[in-house]
This record gives sequence, C-alpha cells and structure tokens, in this order.
Amino acid sequence: MARTTPPRPVDMEELFPELAPLRRTAIRLHPRAGSPSAEESSVGGPLLWPADEPWPVCPSTSHPATWDAPATDGPVPMVAVVQIHRRDVPELAFPEGCDLLQVLWCPFLVDGCSTATPRVHWRSAGSVVRPLPAAPPTVGTAPTDSIPDPCVLHPEVVADYPSRDMPDEVAAALRERMDELEARTGLIHFYHLAEAPGIKLGGYPSWTQDPCWPTCADCGVTMDHLLTVSSWEYDGESWRTWLPVEDRDEETGREKKGATGKETAHNPADLMIGDAGGVYVFQCLTCPGRPVDHHWDCS
Ligand SMILES: [Zn+2]
Ligand SMILES: [Zn+2]
Repeated sequence: MARTTPPRPVDMEELFPELAPLRRTAIRLHPRAGSPSAEESSVGGPLLWPADEPWPVCPSTSHPATWDAPATDGPVPMVAVVQIHRRDVPELAFPEGCDLLQVLWCPFLVDGCSTATPRVHWRSAGSVVRPLPAAPPTVGTAPTDSIPDPCVLHPEVVADYPSRDMPDEVAAALRERMDELEARTGLIHFYHLAEAPGIKLGGYPSWTQDPCWPTCADCGVTMDHLLTVSSWEYDGESWRTWLPVEDRDEETGREKKGATGKETAHNPADLMIGDAGGVYVFQCLTCPGRPVDHHWDCS
C-alpha cells in the first residue's frame, strides 16, 4: 500500500510567494515494520553486501559508558540504517554507474562515540555477485535506541519549505501573514507546513534544534543534505498535516491502530535519537568520492 501525505491545506506559494524559490524536493521514506530482503529498499533491513568486502567497523575501539550503556572495549560492527535501490527512488541523484545506496552507523553514535560519522556506500547492485548471507551481530552492549528495527519503505516525493533554515529576512517578511494564518486556522508553519518530518532523503533536514550544516573538510563548501533519520514520523502537532491518509482513522483523523492494537506509523523503526531528536547525514557533491559528515540533536 502506498503512503500519501495529504495536500497542504493552504496554497503555500500563493500565501507566501517568498517561499517559492526556497522549495526543495524531499522523499519521505514512510518506513513500516516488516521483513525486507537485501533485494529490497529498507530501513534497518539486510544490506546487499559483497561477501568478500569487510563489514564496516567503527574506527573507535573504545566506547565509554553512557547513561544507558556500559563502557565497551573492542571493535564495534556498524549497523544498517538505510538501503535504497534506485528503482524505488529514481529522484535521488545516484553517482554514475550506481543504483544502490547503503548507510550504516556506529550504534553508539548518539553521545558515546568519538568518531561517529556514518558510512555511506554507493554501489552497483549487479556488481554484488556473492552477497554476504547475514551481517555480523553488533555488540550486545550497544544501545538499541539507535539501531533501527527492519522496515519496508513506501517512498513519496513531497515539497519541503524551510522553517529553521528560513533566511531571517524572509522570516521577517512572512511573520505577519503566518501569524494571521495561525490565528485563523491553527496552522503553525514549523509543525504543519514547512519541511516533512520523519525519515527522509533530500529536502531540508528536519532539525529539532538550530541548524548545523557541516562544511566539507576537503573543499570547504557547505555540504548537501542526504538523509534525515528522525525518532518519530510525526509528533503531537505535526500529525495533523503529515500523517499519511492511509494511516488515518476516518472519524478522528488521528493514526488508526494496526492489527496488534498498536500504532504502526508513528515510530516504526523503534528509534529514540537522544530525546526525540534526529541524525542528519550530509555529503559533498563536488569532491570525488562524496565525503560525508553528520550532526545529531535532541529535543
Ligand atoms: Zn563508534
Ligand atoms: Zn568537498
């Protein structure tokens, strides 16, 4: 079943023409708990990984104790976060000759790792002749809050408008109109109308705190946003406009419960980044090999 974000309840670019040049395309991945195979796109699922290529291990061999994990010495295998086959997200700019994106990170990435930059691999699925049967298990002391549960994806292209990334002069020009809209409809730009929440590719990062765009260590330019992994797909406010129509209860408009009596759309990967924050992965599109960096925050 596809997942469809309802059209915004107002015509953004008629009300706020200043936002038209700032529109960006994002791809909401709409993960839902499932059993993806390595041949499928996934969050937290098995990667199509060559058996003769070493599985990524965190460069840090010592992870100090945190509030929810004891100190851990020795190598820590990274964990699969996202796998995208190009056929599922043709809008994403894959490097020449590649049709597979794989993102992994150290499970101690939130607060417990000194070299936590996620690993991003672009490859050709056809070049994986002998796939690894299964990923090595990560260490048992790793906090499970940043290890996504396996999910299948329902990618959807949406338009993002900036909130925290809105230039000051645009924010000043729009303030009165946005206040008027909120007073009339209850719609708040940040929660309801700006950038899509949840796990997504491209567009604006769904920051929980102030923006923190890394610059490329090799060339010094501001990097491009590749991936946001938020703790939740929506919160107590943003469900109103961002909860897909397929997941809504007909009467209340809120999320309907799945077969097990639980919500299936709110936090399908069972993540908790810090305190309901997110991890943001960036890449430099001009340097060879697309260097990456990241930032994480909490609410
Ligand atoms: Zn680490
Ligand atoms: Zn660069």
